[in-house]
Amino acid sequence: MKIISKIIAFFVGTTMSLNVWNTNTPNEGEKIIINTTPIEESIVVEDITVGGYSPQNTSTTSTTTSTSGWWKYPNEIKLTKRNGDDLLVLVNKEYRLSENYVPSDLVSASLSGIRRGGSYRVRNIIINDLRDLVNQAKSDGIDLAVRSAYRSYQDQLTTYNYWLRHNKNIADDADKVSARAGHSQHQLGTAVDFTSSEIQDGIGGRFHTTQAAKWLEENAWKYGFVISFPKGYESTTGYNYESWHYRYIGKDNAQEMINDGKILEIYLRGKN
Ligand SMILES: [Zn+2]
Repeated sequence: MKIISKIIAFFVGTTMSLNVWNTNTPNEGEKIIINTTPIEESIVVEDITVGGYSPQNTSTTSTTTSTSGWWKYPNEIKLTKRNGDDLLVLVNKEYRLSENYVPSDLVSASLSGIRRGGSYRVRNIIINDLRDLVNQAKSDGIDLAVRSAYRSYQDQLTTYNYWLRHNKNIADDADKVSARAGHSQHQLGTAVDFTSSEIQDGIGGRFHTTQAAKWLEENAWKYGFVISFPKGYESTTGYNYESWHYRYIGKDNAQEMINDGKILEIYLRGKN
């Protein structure tokens, strides 16, 4: 079945950064820049298929036009089964992190050498593999930069509320593009939103058109990074396709996930 897709990109409020005193981190009182907007910048149903890994065996039907409520949160919300520091913790619309959870080893993403890394933090545990990924991309002629990484519970509250306002306070629409506080992989410090000079470091709807997106789709797993919300699995993940959003689960786990032919959501459900 061919799904007719339509791109609806919003490019408003692209970069609003605030200078604030961050009190939600181990570096309490340190003045840092928190990027409050950006995030899943556009509501978009992407209509380009790029090569590379194609998941199988997910026992799910795929659709981007369903009205079955795939984006909705269940009535009963539970705390994650694994600790937030566990690379295999399942965080989705059913399982949330505590508002107090802060990763134990946050560092500047710039330690990996990725462009724009100085504005974002990630867990130290991902730095070496992220550096290898960025270096290999570079030698393959691919430019990568980071546009969002760790977001605290409070940051996510701000982010979600931004998207709620952006969607005329219709939660069903906001829930397709942004996680509610506690439900975001960005709170783990292992999720990275990539961008590229190919799209002037913008985020969202146009990223799928880049060589960088194609390169990541084919190679990121080799460095332990896997796409969280792949195209065609919206009804399983609960989110629109996000070509830019990757989560680090470690090389061995990524290899196992690929071998099993699973998408991240299904793979982690089997582990939690
Ligand atoms: Zn993201």
